[in-house]
Amino acid sequence: MSKISINPTLIPIPTQFPSSQPSRDLPLDISDIEDSVSSIIEEELYKLPCPAINYHVCRVCNYRCKFCFHRAAKKIRDSKSSSLYPLSDSEIYRGLEILKAASGEKLNIAGGEPSLWSIEKLVFVISSAKKIGFKCVSIISNVYSFKKEDLPVLKDAGLDILGISLHSSSDAGCEEIGYYHAKYARSPVGTRASGTISHIKEICAAAHECGLHLKINTTLCVPNAKTFKSLAEFVVKDLQPCRWKIFQAIPLGSNEEEGVEKAFVDEEEKILFLTEKEYNKAVDPVVAKYPESKFGIKIIKESSKIMRNSYVVLDELMRPIDSSTGAKMPQQSILDEGGIEKAMRKVVFDGESFKERSGNYFQDLK
Ligand code: SF4
Repeated sequence: MSKISINPTLIPIPTQFPSSQPSRDLPLDISDIEDSVSSIIEEELYKLPCPAINYHVCRVCNYRCKFCFHRAAKKIRDSKSSSLYPLSDSEIYRGLEILKAASGEKLNIAGGEPSLWSIEKLVFVISSAKKIGFKCVSIISNVYSFKKEDLPVLKDAGLDILGISLHSSSDAGCEEIGYYHAKYARSPVGTRASGTISHIKEICAAAHECGLHLKINTTLCVPNAKTFKSLAEFVVKDLQPCRWKIFQAIPLGSNEEEGVEKAFVDEEEKILFLTEKEYNKAVDPVVAKYPESKFGIKIIKESSKIMRNSYVVLDELMRPIDSSTGAKMPQQSILDEGGIEKAMRKVVFDGESFKERSGNYFQDLK
């Protein structure tokens, strides 16, 4: 696990004393100076364990993926957490400033489903992050609610990367894992995800056209592992992202006290989740078949072990989430008294896994 170390060269040295400073002839009260320096240190020295932040702006989602562990559950539907817009613009802006001051450089807007937000609201968050000084802003979405005309607007606001979650190359495969709009849940089997893949192709083409970097995120579980080779061919040949992440679906329980439903019961877990061996068996041949040097796509494997503690995740109330115990444990919000340092105190972060999954890749994007 990485530890946050304090670099003494970063301690600010006061260059000017206040005019009330005692003259040289008088004994200097060093405790006053120490107090003022240590308060500056406290304020300025907290650094996030990595520069990339995943901000899950809402928990509301229009899809029902079987492996999902972060959407509004029944128990919290009446609370602030289940609102589509849980924080005000000024709270979001202040949170982004706090994150930037703690060395945040990349903001990934996640959900729930962020494309359910109005384009104006997304533009506000993206342009605010850029104004505050974030180097890179990305979004990860199922893109159901995006139209191709929306992408240049988001790009102009400062969006660098469009990430699309995609787990199958066919509408039938999407349907099998619940990757379709909830309003089609009662439609006949075989039609619920109709049009999903053609829409994704259209959005990917529009992203390329307007100069957005394109990323695909795939979550692999038992149902879609069977057809994974077809998905690989589709991603590499048709979508051509610069980066493709392949996650091992993770059985992450939730904190009942927070009113979040436990994601899975044991029986479902057995049917849904791959072991690490099964995951490697499905993914390794694909990684070998499509080397970056030949196809220009960086394929990243993320087993549940690599993934679990290698993200800085903020939920819809800007509460850092600790996942080290196998449940999602929200901490206090970075907006609360005590700020980000207190909020992050109990969050376990694995810096080696962050490096292994090349979490700093955004620094090299052109
Ligand atoms: S699209 Fe994402 S947030 Fe929505 S159900 Fe699927 S995994 Fe969960």
